[in-house]
Amino acid sequence: MSKSYDVELINIQKRFGSNIVVDSFNLQIERGECISFLGPSGCGKTTTLNMIAGFLEPDQGDLLIKGKRMNGVPSNKRELGMVFQTYSLFPHMTVFENVAYGLKLRKVAKPEIRERVGKVLELVRLPHMADRYPKQLSGGQRQRIAIARALVTEPSLLLLDEPLSNLDAKLREELRDEMKRLQQEIGVTTIFVTHDQEEALYMSNRIVVLDHGKVEQIGTPWDIYNRPASEFVHTFIGKSNRIEGTVGQLSGHDLGLTTDGGLSLKAVQRGLPLTTGEKVSIYVRPEKISIHVNVEMAEKGNRVKGVVKLVSFLGAYTECEVDIGQTTMVVRVESIEHDAQLAPGAPVWLDWSPDDVFVFPRKESLA
Ligand code: ATP
Repeated sequence: MSKSYDVELINIQKRFGSNIVVDSFNLQIERGECISFLGPSGCGKTTTLNMIAGFLEPDQGDLLIKGKRMNGVPSNKRELGMVFQTYSLFPHMTVFENVAYGLKLRKVAKPEIRERVGKVLELVRLPHMADRYPKQLSGGQRQRIAIARALVTEPSLLLLDEPLSNLDAKLREELRDEMKRLQQEIGVTTIFVTHDQEEALYMSNRIVVLDHGKVEQIGTPWDIYNRPASEFVHTFIGKSNRIEGTVGQLSGHDLGLTTDGGLSLKAVQRGLPLTTGEKVSIYVRPEKISIHVNVEMAEKGNRVKGVVKLVSFLGAYTECEVDIGQTTMVVRVESIEHDAQLAPGAPVWLDWSPDDVFVFPRKESLA
C-alpha cells in the first residue's frame, strides 16, 4: 500500500482567464508537518491555499486530504482551521462567543464548549480575556484569538494566510514564536502562507518556494538556504552578492571563473550543467566573506582586493560595503564599535571559500 499523507496536491493547475496562476503543483504533506508557501506577491500562494480550503476549485489535478479526494467538497466539510491576514473575529461577539462559534455550529453540548474554549484560550495564553470584545484587544491578542478559534474544533489541517502581516515587527516576532510553540505542542498539520523568507525559515519543516505559479523548490529550510535549486531561490532567501563572470576551467569538482572585471575566482560544481566560456552570475553571501587588512590572512581560496566604502552597525553584526572595482560587495562581520582599519577609504582584502560560491547561467537580459 502506498504511504498515506495528510495532504496531497497532484498536478494542480488554476487559470484565471488565459492566465495560468498555479501550474503543475505537486506536494505531499505528512502528518504534523508545518509547510510554508513562500514567494513574491502574485506567485500563487493564496490561490493554492484557497484551493486547499475549498474556496476555489482547481481546473486540473487532484487534491487529497487524509487520502480522500476533496475536489468539489465544500469548505465546511474539509475539517479545516483557518486564520487570515485580517482579523476575522465577529465584532459583536465576546472572545468566548467568537471561539465557541464553530463548536456551536457543530451542536457540541454547552459544558463541553465551555471546557474546550477554556482550554484553547489557555493554549494561546489569554484565558482572562473571555469576556472582552474584539475592539478591546490589541492586534496581537486578536490574532491569537483567531488562532484559538481555528484550533478549537481540532481541525485536521490548519491554514494560515499571512497571519502576522498586520502586526508591527516586535509583535510579529512574539506571535511567530507563539505559533511555532503551539504548532509543535498540538502537532496539527499546518500550511503557512508568507512572503517573508525569515518567517518561512523560522516556522517550517519544509518550504515550498513559488515563482509565477510554479514550484521552484521544495525542501527543508537548510536545503533551501544552502542548496538552492535556482538563482531565484538563492536570491529570494537572504542577501547575496552578485558578480558577473565567465566559466573558465572545468576540472572534475573544481570550477574556474573569470569575472567581467578580470579577477580569477574558484568555485565548486553543484550539478548545474555549465560549459567553458558560458556567461554566468556568481554569488556569495555576505556572512561567508571574511575581511582582512593583511593579505596573508586571506587564505580561504578566493582573495580579492578592495576599498571600504561604508560601515553600518546593525546590532548583532556590522555590515561593510567594499568596492572591488567591478562591483560593491556587502560583507557581514562581527559587531565592532570602531575600527580605524575598517573605516571608509581603508584598503582591505576579502576572502571566501570556493564551497560558498553559487554559480548560475547568466540571465539573457544580463548576458
Ligand atoms: P500576495 O502575496 O500578493 O497575496 P499571492 O502569491 O498570494 O500574492 P495570488 O493571490 O495567489 O498570489 O495571485 C496569483 C495571481 O492570480 C496574481 O497574478 C493575481 O492577480 C491573480 N488572481 C488572483 N485571484 C484572481 C481572480 N479572482 N481573478 C483573476 N486573477 C486573479
